[in-house]
Amino acid sequence: MPRALFASDLHLCASRPVQAARFFALLERAPGQVDTVYLLGDLVEFWPGDDDDDALHRQLVQALRSLTLAGVGLAVITGNRDFLMQSRFARETGAELLPDYHRVELAGIPTLLTHGDLLCTRDVQYLQFRETVRAPARQAQFLGLPLEERRRIATATRAGTQQSMSAKDDYIMDAEETEIMRVMRLYGVQRLVHGHTHRPAIHHFELDGVPCERVVLGDWYEGDLVYLCEPSANRLVSAETLLSLWS
Ligand code: MN
Repeated sequence: MPRALFASDLHLCASRPVQAARFFALLERAPGQVDTVYLLGDLVEFWPGDDDDDALHRQLVQALRSLTLAGVGLAVITGNRDFLMQSRFARETGAELLPDYHRVELAGIPTLLTHGDLLCTRDVQYLQFRETVRAPARQAQFLGLPLEERRRIATATRAGTQQSMSAKDDYIMDAEETEIMRVMRLYGVQRLVHGHTHRPAIHHFELDGVPCERVVLGDWYEGDLVYLCEPSANRLVSAETLLSLWS
């Protein structure tokens, strides 16, 4: 069985060097340990476009490049922070950019991968915002601005988002059950892997009489939980623990 590693919501930025160093170490040790790395979004705090010259972001591109050059498959689904990762990023890293929903077979179990924001259907305000900023014309206009201006806009937007987030009830920002069931039926899967909500867990339940599971990846603000699919077991595990196992 091919071994796969899943991570999301790293929110890498220069002010959290420990997390960045840990992630780069994980990528360095991944060859020989896993066949494919799936990154399910929000790799960085903000990705202003593939022409980004930020030192940490360049380091990330190099680390991913080394991973794929070492023969590890890399697939990326972008999140709300890094949806401007596009073809140049894919070319420079060797990553395959996947659409918002992607179905894979893992050890014979049909599995659906997504970032997770689309599952939070109670957050109507966010979903409207998502649609606005992803409109092709709006994106092209944004990418035409100087890098500094794009970063400034993102910082201002984030400040506004944080304010509206703290005013929202907790349940609004969680994945919504009927939407989870809907997409799992639509794609005919028994497992869903996503991040975004920062509520790591493996939920077991039945869907139409079939045992299913939903794996929620952890964020790297507070922790470093990644999902490892191996012949022996599938589990959420701390990246720090993996690093010691892989040393
Ligand atoms: Mn997110």
